Amino acid sequence: MIAVENLHKHFGGFHAVDGASLSIGDGTITGLIGPNGAGKTTLFNVIAGVLKPTSGRVSMAGEDITGLPPHELFHKGLLRTFQIAHEFSSMTVRENLMVVPGAQSGETLWNAWFRRALIAQEERMLVKKADEVLEFLTIDHLADEKAGNLSGGQKKLLELGRTMMVDARIVFLDEVGAGVNRTLLNTIGDAIQRLNVERGYTFCMIEHDMDFIGRLCDPVICMAEGKVLAEGTIAQIKANEAVIEAYLGT
Ligand code: ADP
Repeated sequence: MIAVENLHKHFGGFHAVDGASLSIGDGTITGLIGPNGAGKTTLFNVIAGVLKPTSGRVSMAGEDITGLPPHELFHKGLLRTFQIAHEFSSMTVRENLMVVPGAQSGETLWNAWFRRALIAQEERMLVKKADEVLEFLTIDHLADEKAGNLSGGQKKLLELGRTMMVDARIVFLDEVGAGVNRTLLNTIGDAIQRLNVERGYTFCMIEHDMDFIGRLCDPVICMAEGKVLAEGTIAQIKANEAVIEAYLGT
């Protein structure tokens, strides 16, 4: 699904990503681990179009997508989750989902005046879709809650839900498990697995919780100092000497 070839991202003289090459197989839940400062987030941001690479190539299903902006990648089904931004906190959970698809007919003045029926129909469909997503994620009881009032874990579920409002093919998750209690972590893990199996989503996730990674991810890729150090099953990665050394060295 995704191939990264010899990617570099430099900040001044500092090589945050320093010749990383990896691939993310179609239909996998690929884990990305590595000590702090390994370059994982920077790599994510380059793939997802948030940062331009210094050099190297990123392709999606064989198509060169290097340096494409996030909205173009979004239309290709490549999504990166972000924390619910401040301005969305005062909207309800359902509304947070409804704004994702964008480009609705009601957004142009002409349509707003003359095509009310069409707009109303679209809105009903969006409400229905949002409610289906909330049910899938088992947070339908929170539909009318302000997003700002959700717990950290519930916000993570909402972030995941936003990817379900469009036809995502690959979703990049940045520490979806961080600071989330065990019960919600299991709910998030279940949702990821079901999206993978039932809807064919490919995932790539940065994660620190090894149990969570072990339960969900195969393969696991370990980065250190801007490069890919090792790739394999969680058991292989845990037993890999270079990986152990990279973690001990920090
Ligand atoms: P990880 O996600 O693996 O912890 P990051 O990709 O966040 O690693 O960071 C890799 C290195 O790049 C870190 O040393 C960090 O300080 C540096 N870095 C990240 N973003 C910037 C930036 N915008 N400007 C300068 N240095 C940066």
